[in-house]
Amino acid sequence: MADTITTRIGEVILAGAGPGDPDLLTVAVLRELGRAEVILHDTLVSAEILALAHPQAVVIETGKTGFGPSRPQHEISAAIIAHARAGRRVLRLKSGDPGVFGRLGEELDALDAAGIGYRVLPGITAASAAAASLGQSLTERGRNRELRLITGHDAQGLAEQDWSALARPGAVAAIYMGKRAARFVQGRLLMHGAPAETPATVIENASRPDQTIRPATLATLPQVTQEAEGPAVILLGLAPRDARQSLKEIAL
Ligand code: SAH
Repeated sequence: MADTITTRIGEVILAGAGPGDPDLLTVAVLRELGRAEVILHDTLVSAEILALAHPQAVVIETGKTGFGPSRPQHEISAAIIAHARAGRRVLRLKSGDPGVFGRLGEELDALDAAGIGYRVLPGITAASAAAASLGQSLTERGRNRELRLITGHDAQGLAEQDWSALARPGAVAAIYMGKRAARFVQGRLLMHGAPAETPATVIENASRPDQTIRPATLATLPQVTQEAEGPAVILLGLAPRDARQSLKEIAL
């Protein structure tokens, strides 16, 4: 087999900034923050994290994630490529993990097409931070053998899922971008036989100083979700450990 040697220009770092708390950055991402010349970041990357950038770095916000106006993806990719071609050290910073609802694949495709090298640095995804704040495990022997990361909506609108799997007793799922989809999710799950008292917790601003944990059930989920103003992830099937304990105490 003939060796194919492709010459690539530069190296773009595509990294996850975690859920917001700078303590949850990886050492690798912290190092890149300190030496990048151009940083293109999503809106959800926190100010505390951007404060760790090199003072001379050019810091560019690429727009909102989730609902609301955002720069078209091709424009963001074009900007990354232009900076890399100009020989600058580019850091593309996304919230959480870049490979979880972060359009990472589209940017890698664009870099491949442009012949630009890259490295992907993972980050702590919102679901991990949210579960940690509840004192809960995302998987647990005897309860759930699988964990689903799902989105409330996609490019087509409200997202369909494998509702019968999600409605099974003990099922755990992290719902990203679920604020406007909460009623839809509730309706689908009830239709597929999930009990109305199934726990679901809404974690807003996970790991940030303004983190808010709102325990709910499937019955109250839409109304509880509406209370969140910042980024929120819904952990379906999980209650805060304290709430679970107090429920047990009541039962005694
Ligand atoms: N790549 C990110 C997800 C980006 S999609 C990750 O791995 O976490 C944006 C959605 O992520 C938001 O709508 C929200 O559902 C969730 N999210 C991101 N940061 C969050 C945080 N600090 N607290 C709660 N949810 C968060």
